[in-house]
Amino acid sequence: MDSGGADAARILSEIKGLKATKSDIEAKISALEAQLKDLNCRNDAVSSNGSCPLATSLDSGLGHGLSPEMIHRYSRQLLLPSFGVQAQSNLLKSSILVVGAGGLGSPALLYLAACGVGRLGIVDNDEVELNNMHRQIIHTEAYIGRLKVESAAAACRAINSTVQIVEHKEALRTSNALEILSKYDVVVDATDNAPGRYMISDCCVVLGKPLVSGAALGLEGQLSVYNYNGGPCYRCLFPTPPPTTACQRCSDSGVLGVVPGIIGCLQALEAIKIASAVGEPLVGRMLLFDALSGRIRIVKIRGRSLHCEVCGENATFTRQQFQEFDYEKFTQSPLSASAPPKLNLLSGDSRISSKDYNERLKNGEVHILVDVRPEHHFRIVSLPNSLNIPLSTLEKRLAEISSALREAEGQRDASLYVICRRGNDSQRAVNYLHDIGFTSAKDIIGGLESWARDVDPSFPTY
Ligand SMILES: [Zn+2]
Repeated sequence: MDSGGADAARILSEIKGLKATKSDIEAKISALEAQLKDLNCRNDAVSSNGSCPLATSLDSGLGHGLSPEMIHRYSRQLLLPSFGVQAQSNLLKSSILVVGAGGLGSPALLYLAACGVGRLGIVDNDEVELNNMHRQIIHTEAYIGRLKVESAAAACRAINSTVQIVEHKEALRTSNALEILSKYDVVVDATDNAPGRYMISDCCVVLGKPLVSGAALGLEGQLSVYNYNGGPCYRCLFPTPPPTTACQRCSDSGVLGVVPGIIGCLQALEAIKIASAVGEPLVGRMLLFDALSGRIRIVKIRGRSLHCEVCGENATFTRQQFQEFDYEKFTQSPLSASAPPKLNLLSGDSRISSKDYNERLKNGEVHILVDVRPEHHFRIVSLPNSLNIPLSTLEKRLAEISSALREAEGQRDASLYVICRRGNDSQRAVNYLHDIGFTSAKDIIGGLESWARDVDPSFPTY
């Protein structure tokens, strides 16, 4: 590296270090401010619902609890005849928990902090990654590799230092959900998986908390409010989980960044309506958003089910039952947002590591490499000389594999390798190929992700 390059690297690393120190200091200041407010609250009278009226210690004697600074800050909301000082004062006394600081949680948290909720909790145990940035707009590049909760909390504090921000740096589980959710008035589900949805809804029923639930995938989103004003809970609507194939995730199916942005904003709006006691929350109705056609529909959904196992007439779903319930087993999918579990379909001699495959490449082994990912994945990035035959079309396109093998054979038998993104579909493909006579087919363990990790770090991952 020339001296200019070395200088640039040094400066970049210094900037990175200073930024991290800066956000640490900001987080410490905010935590101390929150502590001070807590102390002031304890010295003053605590409001009847047990929440801490932040304004008490700042009360300007105007009767509504809003300080002169707050009147100025929230003036555009106070000027709304249907909102006004009463709603703002309600909001100030309320607490809202957002589960998940991702695509839905990002805009929800920003607006909830900005609008003046008294106490705002964030639950998440993930770290910020580069491929989050297109939709998780609360995070900045400086926070890549750090906890999303820290990043989101710093962003909320930067917007509104008068809001008490509480960081829950842990994954929500049945073991901690009751304790965490019980500290808040309203819960916003901004997670992206089936077991989480059921767990949060059930916990809200057990604790009697309103739940603002949102989902966004691909180019579609939906939104509803559960367990509020006699309305249904999530289980009333979906007593049995959808088949696991229907539970897609952004990391597998993709999502246009602005779609969760829109649903997350609507979640903030519903939470604000409930906390401030303004308007008609989306109870017994579901909002469906279709980005491609630009269409928003609101459909009536069934009311509370008398037979619901959790909130029905004869339901006796207790705290203990909640804590013992296995949501991952119930929905047959994992709670964490990480990659799907690794399959193990094949015996060791039908598999090869990406490093070994690379060795064989270097030795000039005659072979065919079939990439079984969908075509739009293949277009993002692929290994040179690989033949794209998506798993779903494999059965119909066997002739292409046969003819490629014949062409490659020469004096020796050509080998047949199969690769995919993570190494699950390639095993399914090899299993099938073995069954119909391609007995030498081998799968490349861990797919292109393993290639990028173990062989070529410059190979793009997505
Ligand atoms: Zn129910």
